[in-house]
Amino acid sequence: MTDTQKIADLLFPEVSAVPQDLEEKYPPRALPEGARVTRFSPSPTGYLHIGGLFGALADYMTAKATGGVFYLRIEDTDKKREIEDGVSGILEGLRAFGITPDEGVTGFDSETGAYGPYTQSKRVEIYHIVAKDLVRRGLAYPCFCTADELAALREQQEKDGALIRGYFGKYAKCRDLSDEEIEANLRAGKPYVLRFRSDGDENRRVRFDDIVRGKIEFPENIIDEVLLKSDGVPTYHFAHVCDDHFMRTTHVLRGEEWLSSVPKHIALFKACGFRTPKYAHTPLVLKIDEQDGTKRKISKRKDPEAAVSYFVDSGYPKEALIEYLMTLLNSNFEDWRRANPEADIYSFPFNLKKMSVSGALFDLAKLNDISKTVISRMDAQTVFDRTLEWAKTYDAEYAALLENDPQKALGMMALDRGGKKPRKDIAMWSQVRSYFSYMYPALYEKDYTLPENIDAADAAAILHDYSQVWSPADEKDVWFEKIKALCAPHGFTPNVKEYKQNPDAFKGHVGDVSTVIRIAVTGRTNTPDLCTILQLLGEEAVHARLADAEAFYRAQA
Ligand code: GLU
Repeated sequence: MTDTQKIADLLFPEVSAVPQDLEEKYPPRALPEGARVTRFSPSPTGYLHIGGLFGALADYMTAKATGGVFYLRIEDTDKKREIEDGVSGILEGLRAFGITPDEGVTGFDSETGAYGPYTQSKRVEIYHIVAKDLVRRGLAYPCFCTADELAALREQQEKDGALIRGYFGKYAKCRDLSDEEIEANLRAGKPYVLRFRSDGDENRRVRFDDIVRGKIEFPENIIDEVLLKSDGVPTYHFAHVCDDHFMRTTHVLRGEEWLSSVPKHIALFKACGFRTPKYAHTPLVLKIDEQDGTKRKISKRKDPEAAVSYFVDSGYPKEALIEYLMTLLNSNFEDWRRANPEADIYSFPFNLKKMSVSGALFDLAKLNDISKTVISRMDAQTVFDRTLEWAKTYDAEYAALLENDPQKALGMMALDRGGKKPRKDIAMWSQVRSYFSYMYPALYEKDYTLPENIDAADAAAILHDYSQVWSPADEKDVWFEKIKALCAPHGFTPNVKEYKQNPDAFKGHVGDVSTVIRIAVTGRTNTPDLCTILQLLGEEAVHARLADAEAFYRAQA
């Protein structure tokens, strides 16, 4: 019989507290029945992946829908993955999309909440208290195997054709060291890791309910997993068990890559005497590969849209990306949105059970559609403010144009906005510049190409006459009457129906006449409300553009 208390004291002489002290320090949260506590717990890679935002949104919605708590924990036990100040990119990404945690890490060296510290590297004392208790109870032991010994073990397992690979059973050399051997090794200053003493049996099954995936079962874990590395830093497996318990997490939502580790985690929760949280393993965010058409993970290396900052830089409104991610998260979201077009997205009854298992296919075209709808519902002032805000960071020249004449810019943003069928043309703030480029002399690019059915001589004549009659003071109906009035003298008809019944009798109809004017002034065949565009451009610009185009067509005719 080994004296586990003695070994525990030898391994952790500085630890005098016991788990019960932690239980008291971090008591169960006083939350209403059914309230869920979730966390987003990324590594500080300096970068928020779209899959991370997807997961964080699921955490956020789960907590919000149940009156619970959503917190941000930074998992920095893997030093290899860390970058200097790897936290701010994550915080910025969450902030940009309005996913504000209720507690947890708030800055490079700041946090809020009573269950901290929320950064794993600051919680070593906690892990050591739990680890010492496991040693004391004979559930963990020091392993002094060197890298060479571990390599030899792997070789042996290969030779044996062992179906399960790792440190377990007869391969676990240090599992049954005597107290004397342990003491001698420690005295000799041999480095060691702390391992879990698994009592798993590969012939037994562990069953659990995954909220997304339903009933799952795996063989029990038999591996003596590393809990603390040789520098005393915990592994993910051990750290998250301690953290999720003492932060009183009720629901662990995380990527599906962790699913197969659940047996390990359940064994650890049990060994520590903690209640296992509910698990929900969320699907990967996938895309269709442009090259070979297959589905694959969105990759940080290959895909610019892997980084959430891509959507900020492009000028997608935060509401649009969130709205889109919700369609990926819950299969009934779109129906709900159709029934509640104006409702606050956060009033959606989010349900983890409505999440697809097979992977969330990210589709930029669909995001663009959603974004156009989202922007089409905004009022002109909002579109102006948000475009300006974006441009101040990403396009100073355009910001200056907008600010130089806010009335004009606001009028331009108001074009075809409001009403039952607002125009859905703009998906991101970066598109506003080119969408309305004709509004600014500095950006305007002429394109006098006419539709095939209109010839240059007619266009020149129409423009000539129009510049005589157009007045910026005209209301829309007067404006349109003037265009209609131009039709007959030039061989066109003001009546589209009439044209369709008798196309050979006319050169075209009123739509063609207004197209000539539109092209002359905007370089486009399709724009929002032309009457207002002309008013916003003002007399000088309109007359100059009409004259330029007229001269161009005359030269051609
Ligand atoms: N830190 C882990 C990761 O970045 C998170 C896993 C979890 O949410 O439990 O993959």
